[in-house]
Amino acid sequence: MTRAGEYRIVNFHGIGAPLRELEPGEADYWLSRDRFLAILDRIASHPARERIYITFDDGNASDLLIAAPELRRRGLRAEFFVLTGRIGKEGSLTADDIRTLIALEMRIGSHGVGHRDWTRLTTSELNYELEASKARLEEICGCRVNAASMPFGWYNASVLKRIRNAGYKAAYSSGGGSAEVEGFLRPRNSVRSETADSTLDDVLSGQVPFWRRLRNAARTKFRV
Ligand SMILES: [Zn+2]
Repeated sequence: MTRAGEYRIVNFHGIGAPLRELEPGEADYWLSRDRFLAILDRIASHPARERIYITFDDGNASDLLIAAPELRRRGLRAEFFVLTGRIGKEGSLTADDIRTLIALEMRIGSHGVGHRDWTRLTTSELNYELEASKARLEEICGCRVNAASMPFGWYNASVLKRIRNAGYKAAYSSGGGSAEVEGFLRPRNSVRSETADSTLDDVLSGQVPFWRRLRNAARTKFRV
């Protein structure tokens, strides 16, 4: 059953042919343009469309080249989590691209500076990821950047505390299932190239199979 105040967050990465060298395992998260458009159509025509929130991680060039115009065409909006260390590099968004996304009524969040597992960083390293990326994006956007998405979906209680202390209002994971509108920790459902329509339908209607919830829970690491 869906509770009031709950929504589903669908997370994408790259679309189409990558314009940079991918990290190991990353190719699974890239979708063909056709597959992406089919999913957007499903979201746009879904009866619970107003409860579906769309995000993108990594700041790939395809965010602006492919995703933003197709979102606009369907009256959809999204939040793009950018790695500031990649801004202006081949295959990634430029500062101008980020400003264009804002002009297209999209939102910008931080995915850190590098693409690092935040649970494995020292306090000063994590603070740098959180603070330097926020400051750079706020300078580019001319607005507040209030949300962070955690690379690889990895987090623990200490990471969440530091995200909060760095001034963010929301932390996006990849935990699956539904999210609370006002919640600080916001679990997302990452779409992969292998994600079947039936799985997607479950996600969009707020139904997450029990085995998937178990698997996602196992991804959460707690530091003693
Ligand atoms: Zn990422």
